[in-house]
Amino acid sequence: MTQVSRSGGVSSPPNKGNNILDTPAPLLYLSSMNKRKAFPSSLAEAIRYFADPDVALTFLVSLRWPKGVSCPACEAKNPGFLKTRRIWKCRDCGRQFSVKLGTIFEDSPIGLDKWLPALWMLANSKNGISSYELGRALGVTQKTGWFMLHRIRLAMQTRTWAKMRGHIEADETFIGGKAKFMHWSKRKRVIRGSGGMDKTPVLGILERGTDGKASRVRATVAKNLNQRGIRGHVLATVEKGAHLYTDTTMQYGKGRLPKLYQHEAINHAREYARGQVHTNSLENFWSLLKRAIKGTYVSVDPFHLFRYVDEQVRRFNERKSNDRQRFVSALADIVGRRVTYRELTGADLKPATT
Ligand SMILES: [Zn+2]
Repeated sequence: MTQVSRSGGVSSPPNKGNNILDTPAPLLYLSSMNKRKAFPSSLAEAIRYFADPDVALTFLVSLRWPKGVSCPACEAKNPGFLKTRRIWKCRDCGRQFSVKLGTIFEDSPIGLDKWLPALWMLANSKNGISSYELGRALGVTQKTGWFMLHRIRLAMQTRTWAKMRGHIEADETFIGGKAKFMHWSKRKRVIRGSGGMDKTPVLGILERGTDGKASRVRATVAKNLNQRGIRGHVLATVEKGAHLYTDTTMQYGKGRLPKLYQHEAINHAREYARGQVHTNSLENFWSLLKRAIKGTYVSVDPFHLFRYVDEQVRRFNERKSNDRQRFVSALADIVGRRVTYRELTGADLKPATT
């Protein structure tokens, strides 16, 4: 049993080894925990581990405030800890706060004993996880599960991108297509001409792996993938001088791109690959994405599609990591991200049943 002191510092009884404030960074903590074999490596272990509210709190505190708890409002150190409520009170500004404040968990009545396993599940299930599955696994309603998953997806969005270099594949795909079942007003909003009429275009750019480094992908849901839009995404993502492989239907044969990149196109009507010239790695990502969306989420509102795409991108780019690394990586991004139910659903949208 881990004890949390009044100052928010954490101490453990001897031989229990749950003190994660020993080390300055969560990843350091993680590697030190590896030796102690205390930190979970599977979902079943995670559920058991985080079932203890003090262990869950201690873990999150160490991630959030590796140098000790400080007030989110005024940054004062050493706030008083109200042990019974597991919240702090700032000695300077008097504000009360929990570890959830300013994170994707803020204002949620759901405990960390459910939030942390939920995050574990979404970060690690290759094909995603539906709100029904999550609801059943955690004993919450489908609606609550849906909201939790969308908050977690927010943490899973990749915010910063190093420019891609070397050998790059670019391709587009179209997702969805249930327009005939939509209400006319939504239909008008969703359908925007070009490409697969009732489908949403997604542009993918993939940097091939080199020297044991895994390939990585960036995918963008685009309202309208015209020539200019595609070029803008490529220019923002790919370093000049890179080898760029596309198929001949991609709309950037003309203009500036061929001069900035060593562009070669494959005609998919005629051949699959010509030496290095192919988009097969990206095809692999598309099939994973489509499997998750069709198999797990069944139908995704185009309004939310980017969230599911971001989720798959994150898991794909971290596919060489293990479950606990992916969990900690997503958890490290929970701070500073918050979305309300209203923001998620929009004024005219109801929560989807995915
Ligand atoms: Zn304060």
